[in-house]
Amino acid sequence: MFHQKNGIKKIFPFKSLCKCGPCGGSVTAEEKFKKLKYNGFSKYVYYHCSRAIDYDCSEVYITEEDLIKQLIANIDNIKINKNLLSKSIKAEIERFHTLKTQVLQQEYVKGNLTDIGDDYLTNQTKQKQLSPEMAKSYLIHILKAGTSEERQRILSVIQTKFILHNRELRIV
Ligand SMILES: [Zn+2]
Repeated sequence: MFHQKNGIKKIFPFKSLCKCGPCGGSVTAEEKFKKLKYNGFSKYVYYHCSRAIDYDCSEVYITEEDLIKQLIANIDNIKINKNLLSKSIKAEIERFHTLKTQVLQQEYVKGNLTDIGDDYLTNQTKQKQLSPEMAKSYLIHILKAGTSEERQRILSVIQTKFILHNRELRIV
């Protein structure tokens, strides 16, 4: 189920990651805006039991921020599809190469930038399998700073299934 806002389909990337612990039902999400004291709004994303199986399910909501923190804390215990993750990182590096040659290079020639370490990037794309450390830091980077789309894409490499129980993300 998508939440429509300005005609853009809202993506909740963590919905498919976990099921509700107490009832086994699916997890759904919604976006809420809280008015700030002085000006503007702060956006919160909440995940909670869809109550499709048990209408009276007791499971409480959890914020997306909290989910991300817990997922990062569990990062060493989760199974990931390494090939898929490698492909994703390589695509990202390729994109960076393009950015570099087409945009940043001009800035570099102009003297606005220092060098960006091309040899390192080239080595990374040539390697068949990326190092576990690099895979892990990329995963954490997207979880912390990625867009919803990027997070959704990266979450598809996680093979571990979770349940939500008392606002806790637990490995099944
Ligand atoms: Zn439930």
